[in-house]
Amino acid sequence: MTVARTFNRRDWLKVAAAGSASALLGGCATGIRGPVEYRRPLSLRPFARPNIDMSLITHTRVGLRPYRPGGFVVKGERFGDKLVIHNYGHGGGGITMSWGSSMLAVRELPDLADKRAAVLGGGIMGLTTARLLQERGWSVTIHAKALSPDTTSDVAGGLWAPTSVFRLGDETPEFLAQFVEALRYSHDVFSKQAGRGIGVNWVENYYLSRERNQPRDFYYLDRWPELFPSIAELSPGEHPFSAPYALRHLSLLIEPAIYLPRLMGEIRQAGGTIEQREMRGLDDVLALSQPVVFNCTGLGARELFGDTELTPVRGQLAFMPADERVDYVTHGSGEGLLYMFPRADGILLGGAYERGASHLEPDATTTERIVREHGRQARAMRV
Ligand SMILES: Cc1cc2nc3c(=O)[nH]c(=O)nc-3n(C[C@H](O)[C@H](O)[C@H](O)COP(=O)(O)OP(=O)(O)OC[C@H]3O[C@@H](n4cnc5c(N)ncnc54)[C@H](O)[C@@H]3O)c2cc1C
Repeated sequence: MTVARTFNRRDWLKVAAAGSASALLGGCATGIRGPVEYRRPLSLRPFARPNIDMSLITHTRVGLRPYRPGGFVVKGERFGDKLVIHNYGHGGGGITMSWGSSMLAVRELPDLADKRAAVLGGGIMGLTTARLLQERGWSVTIHAKALSPDTTSDVAGGLWAPTSVFRLGDETPEFLAQFVEALRYSHDVFSKQAGRGIGVNWVENYYLSRERNQPRDFYYLDRWPELFPSIAELSPGEHPFSAPYALRHLSLLIEPAIYLPRLMGEIRQAGGTIEQREMRGLDDVLALSQPVVFNCTGLGARELFGDTELTPVRGQLAFMPADERVDYVTHGSGEGLLYMFPRADGILLGGAYERGASHLEPDATTTERIVREHGRQARAMRV
């Protein structure tokens, strides 16, 4: 449903006072056009200005994205009579890719009489792999060094977007085929789960920029626009943000704080076992009794299986109390990487993208920048 918010007299007075009426008349050379309408593709409500201030920050979180320039690994590897199926290295898009990548991993299974599998890792990849195995009649035990809420998957913003999953331009045709299949499969699964009270919802995104087309740097919007409904480039006057341009689309937002515990509950309910246990080396893995082991250890695969292409990319988030009036996502614009996600557990303000950094302590300067830039942007909104 398309919903328009009509400018009222008070809005025009505010604009006139700010001296920016001409900017709001976007694209209209004469300036003679009816009142500007902000078209919202999803929400019935007008845009609300988030109240952003350092004093409202409840906590910060830091996580390390398991990035591989060549993209994530899904493949079987034999160690004697044990089959290890890898499913790791999804960078900044592990929530996004999860169901699809895990589907590819489970598809590597040979037909065995002994249908017992061990899954290493209790993040999104381990949990979705375990669920898919159970659906195929396998008995599953998860071994994970850390469990929710202490995995990287718990730190994820949860936006459905394959951001920094591989180094653009370096992808092989084989990887791209795998990536696209996983992307579409995941999209299908999450789309069907949206709006059912399990932490998956459609949300409006606004990429704010000074120049037209700039947000198109997000390659996936160009290549698979059908996965991001309602894409439109909004000119000045067609949106309430202070940046001149806003690229809008809908995407899914998956809330880890709801989604991960729910998946764990489903796995246990279906007879699965979840154990907190670290694999200290390959010997531990090969000593497991199951004939098949799924390696969903994320960044842990660097140590455990010697994958030196895996690189941590540090991210940092600041949270404010949830505000149900704020029901849209923004990306940019201001100093550094910026994004705001409205979630049930708080308004999430990001971000940071530090390749090779692996310290887990929050950095006060980064938090200060994130809050300052988002606050500046919020105060400049025309609402
Ligand atoms: C700040 C930030 C924001 C993000 N935002 C998004 C987003 O908006 N959308 C999105 O799609 N993605 C996002 N991501 C990326 C996403 O979080 C990751 O890609 C995803 O969590 C990877 O999932 P995983 O299950 O492979 O790894 P993890 O969640 O790291 O899980 C790995 C599991 O393996 C276990 N493990 C590791 N080593 C061992 C061992 N030796 N023995 C036993 N267990 C072991 C760990 O304890 C853990 O249980 C973000 C990441 C960060 C840091």
